[in-house]
Amino acid sequence: MGKSESFEFQAEISQLLSLIINTVYSNKEIFLRELISNASDALDKIRYLSLSDPKVLDTEPELFIRITPYKDQKVLELRDSGIGMTKADLVNNLGTIAKSGTKQFLMDALAGGADMSMIGQFGVGFYSVFLVADNVQVITKNNDDEQYIWESEAGGKFTITEDTVNEPIGRGTVIRMFLKEDQLEYLEESRIKEVVHKHSEFVSYPVQLAVTKEVEKEVPVEEKTEEDESKEPRIEEVDDEGNPKEEKAKVKEIVKENEVLNTVKPLWTCNPSEVTKEEYDSFYKSISNDWEDPLAVKHFSVEGQLEFKAILYIPSRAPFDLFEGKKKRSNIKLYVRRVFITDDAEELVPDWLSFVKGVVDSEELPLNLSRELLQQNKILKVIRKNIVKRCIDMFNEISEDQELFNKFYENFSKNIKLGIHEDSTNRASLAKLLRYKSTKSGDEVTSLSDYVTRMPEHQKNIYFITGESVKAVEKSPFLDALKAKNFEVLFLVDPIDEYAAQQLKEFEDKKLVDVTKDYELEETEEEKKQREEDIKNYEKLTAAIKEVLGDQVEKVVVSDKLGAEAPAAIRTAQFGWSANMERIMKAQALRDTSMSQYMASKKILEISPKSPIIKELKAKVEESGAQDRTVKDLTTLLFETALLVSGFSLDDPSSFASRINRLVSLGLNIDESSVEESTTAAPEAAVEGESVMEEVD
Ligand code: ADP
Ligand code: MG
Repeated sequence: MGKSESFEFQAEISQLLSLIINTVYSNKEIFLRELISNASDALDKIRYLSLSDPKVLDTEPELFIRITPYKDQKVLELRDSGIGMTKADLVNNLGTIAKSGTKQFLMDALAGGADMSMIGQFGVGFYSVFLVADNVQVITKNNDDEQYIWESEAGGKFTITEDTVNEPIGRGTVIRMFLKEDQLEYLEESRIKEVVHKHSEFVSYPVQLAVTKEVEKEVPVEEKTEEDESKEPRIEEVDDEGNPKEEKAKVKEIVKENEVLNTVKPLWTCNPSEVTKEEYDSFYKSISNDWEDPLAVKHFSVEGQLEFKAILYIPSRAPFDLFEGKKKRSNIKLYVRRVFITDDAEELVPDWLSFVKGVVDSEELPLNLSRELLQQNKILKVIRKNIVKRCIDMFNEISEDQELFNKFYENFSKNIKLGIHEDSTNRASLAKLLRYKSTKSGDEVTSLSDYVTRMPEHQKNIYFITGESVKAVEKSPFLDALKAKNFEVLFLVDPIDEYAAQQLKEFEDKKLVDVTKDYELEETEEEKKQREEDIKNYEKLTAAIKEVLGDQVEKVVVSDKLGAEAPAAIRTAQFGWSANMERIMKAQALRDTSMSQYMASKKILEISPKSPIIKELKAKVEESGAQDRTVKDLTTLLFETALLVSGFSLDDPSSFASRINRLVSLGLNIDESSVEESTTAAPEAAVEGESVMEEVD
């Protein structure tokens, strides 16, 4: 036996292990699924290597997974003839969390009482072995290294030893589990069969169970020579079928056999009409690491110039790392003529469909597909186009079932919107799937198609408002004019809506218009006359306000779109960011500052001629001019509140606050003398107090 080296688990793994050991979680059988899935991955890897170098299989030509129970020792073994692990692999793979970005999710999920059966999703499925075993050995042999034993009793550490005690395994891995006293059920053949059928039916390598059978054998009574034995029974059977063979005796014999437990036939090659829902669900779980049934499935084959078969699934939940930068971009396994090639072919689906899981099996692609080939491959491009089309079909089918669609939309609406942003070909069909709350939807949501059917005849555009939340936009002054005209306005309150809407531009030949931006409202002759008149009447006031605000606003206009309640609002130019976009961009740490210089919202201050405040201000300006202190102070306040109500943030909130505080003082009749009293003899304070009264009065 070689020298043992001791290693410590990464802190998170130690934490995970103590959770696993102490859990009261009853569904422990999932450990077998996790180990079989690892074995299957390891077999995929060696089979893939063998495509370019068949010699790698020489160390063990047969590809299999084998479960062997040793009842006497209370040991369960699971062996695979996969790629195996080098010593370095052992240290890295069975000691640290490999998937970057997973750690925090895992810890949060477990702290939140997550189901243990989820752990496969977090890239730590292996450790579920400690649900049933208190001591585990991993005996492994990779073609590039010696045979090693990894061993751990959970806790904080594990050891690695060069293996000089076990028989050489050729290539692959044996997981030797010393079962806990209360987990001996996993030594029973019937229990193992049950669990494999339930969780691993569709693994694409044979999962064998080493069974011992008692068979009855007929042996001739008479002693015979070996030659006789091999010939005679055959002759007798043909001649005397059905007749008692008196010259023979029955003896019992123990034989060992490897019984294959799973359906090795790939499900996608079956005729869809012959596959049950249970089989689809079970297959899904075996390829996806998911523990829940999928939301929908599509099984199809494409024939003709290009031939391939595929099964695509929509999971019932968005993955925890859906929009994580580094995660895998494709969840579709690529096969070529039934041989697994890769589960990392980004070229198979666009980014926005990365949540779709499944398998694709091509007849035409070459087996030795390299990365470079994948990227340029024309066949793959056609397959991808087909997959996108089938997925959209699937989404449309789902949309026919309200409840199912709600669930789908809740989880994947961001992907649909990303699709609208990225995929110009399918933009129009994806837009049909959008759902929004609106000024007319109440608690429900509406599709764009339904919106269009409700449009009054004289409404030309589809109107929407963008903002941080429904609450933030539903009372916006930008809605006033549209409500007055009985035009519906959609609430786009998901950050990604802003991006999607920019690309979508129109739906069913109607322009999409952001009501927080500058736009032309449908108007009657009468309204037009009124607007032109207002512009003339308020010329002096708008000029005065622009004079006071200077560069803070692009221009000041009298509005035909605000009601009597809001005196003013800030609209942005048609091209450039909306207030909401500015908010989103400010929130993004890595925003490109050069970009914000060009795109930053050009602000147009709109004042409402219907507002009593504006009417008064107009009178005041006409009386005392723009340089009057009260006019200046009130204009600034008007501007700042307009910023807030329009979804902007204030550059200088404290000067806004002091202006408001002065108003509050005034409202409370706090007079000059009490200001003087409460301030401890600072003469400047007294002077300032005086000016307050003067300015605000
Ligand atoms: P995941 O399978 O999601 O990567 P696991 O915790 O199940 O996470 O396994 C961790 C890693 O250990 C695997 O990625 C693989 O590199 C290695 N591993 C586990 N089991 C085997 C095996 N039977 N053969 C080869 N490598 C294995
Ligand atoms: Mg795993």
